[in-house]
Amino acid sequence: MNHALICRAMFGLALAAVLLAACVQATPAPAPTVAPTTAPPVAPTPAPTVAPTAAKRDLGCEKLAANDGWAAQGDGTSGGAAAAADQVYTVRNRKELIAALNDGKYPPPSTTPSNAAKIVYVDGTIDANVDDNNKPLTCQDYARDGYTIQAYVTAFDPATWGRKAVTGTLETARVNSQRVQDERVRIRVGSNTTIVGLGQKATIRGAWFDVRGTATAALSNIIIRNITFQDASDCFPQWDPTDGAEGNWNSLYDAISLRYVDHVWVDHNTFEDRDTADSKAPTYFGRHFEMHDGTLDITNAADLVTVSWNRFQNHDKTMLIGSSDTGATATGDRGKLRVTLHHNLFDNTGQRTPRVRFGQVHIYNNYYKIVNNPTFGYSWGVGVESQIYAENNYFKTDDKVALAKIIGNYKGTAIHVAGTRVNDKDVDILAAHNAANDTKIAAKADWKPVLVVKVEPVESVISTVESGAGPINW
Ligand code: CA
Ligand code: CA
Repeated sequence: MNHALICRAMFGLALAAVLLAACVQATPAPAPTVAPTTAPPVAPTPAPTVAPTAAKRDLGCEKLAANDGWAAQGDGTSGGAAAAADQVYTVRNRKELIAALNDGKYPPPSTTPSNAAKIVYVDGTIDANVDDNNKPLTCQDYARDGYTIQAYVTAFDPATWGRKAVTGTLETARVNSQRVQDERVRIRVGSNTTIVGLGQKATIRGAWFDVRGTATAALSNIIIRNITFQDASDCFPQWDPTDGAEGNWNSLYDAISLRYVDHVWVDHNTFEDRDTADSKAPTYFGRHFEMHDGTLDITNAADLVTVSWNRFQNHDKTMLIGSSDTGATATGDRGKLRVTLHHNLFDNTGQRTPRVRFGQVHIYNNYYKIVNNPTFGYSWGVGVESQIYAENNYFKTDDKVALAKIIGNYKGTAIHVAGTRVNDKDVDILAAHNAANDTKIAAKADWKPVLVVKVEPVESVISTVESGAGPINW
């Protein structure tokens, strides 16, 4: 074959790929400006596993609507909507999920997932704590070097160990055991990706979605929708005698961590702890054995995120925006961490809904249910240089929740709050906070959100969020 023929053949393949785009685009896709340098090994691409039809809504192809929060900035967020047909996957177990995020390869060739446009449909329940044959793995299966919780608490009992940081054989055994679990439950996600649950019952259990670029190469353009995330749980919490006055157990995994990534849309999911609910956990050294970290933590210069129509349930530290007051991450965070939260339900959450450092965070039309929750700490954490702009949020509380506790002050100086309703009364929760505390927070913001579709009146928030948040049936 001469050179011209090879080029023509390659152009034909490129054209075929465009014609076989998984999602019907509103406007014709432009011809590729750069021809692929290598032809794919197998010419015909398989038909998409879920064929979009004109009549049926296809969540996998949907993009974030214009103006819908910070993730709509610039070119907006389309996730994998531009996927070629051979980058559309339906996954039913951990192995298939990881393969889908790595161009179909398992085990993945590296810890860097694919940035090719792709749509991953999640069908049924996927458990991350399984081996490659989908056999369930327990915490005991991960334990290495003689680690047991009994041996660990014996070694580090403050009565004998004291209050210095833990170190030595059993701490090393814990770290090694944790690493074994990490290899199973950590799911790395690349750019240009949509992960979406099929129907209303798609569930991912025990996984940590680690969405992480680097300081010099951020990821971008990711959509996670319509999935119930359960029990991102660490079998090997670390005892930190120096954390707080009495020490604390700390864990590694969030359901989703966003770091060094921009343009992310997290929508219509449920996040909850069931099998590993805090209420079922033991206490060691008088402290709750905390097997969870955050639910959706947004740190390390993550930026332009819209979090909409999710249910956050039965979790303590729910959403950390910005991880540190000082140091290298703080320098990188300044000017980033722009997040919109709207129409989310926060039900029986303990704290950090969200806790904010640095970022311009728009919080509107969310519904907070804080009833019969003895461990409630606060809802909005006003941290260092945080710029929260809160409008028309509804709080349902019982008499154990003081109005002054809805806002927590973590070295912040200002917040804009308007239209807050608590138990059918319009309440100035900032005035309540300031009346109860010596250190005052100013009622102001140096910015005004412009990426907004519509802020609805606070009186309809309960019904809108109760009926609309969480996975939808499609
Ligand atoms: Ca802690
Ligand atoms: Ca975290």
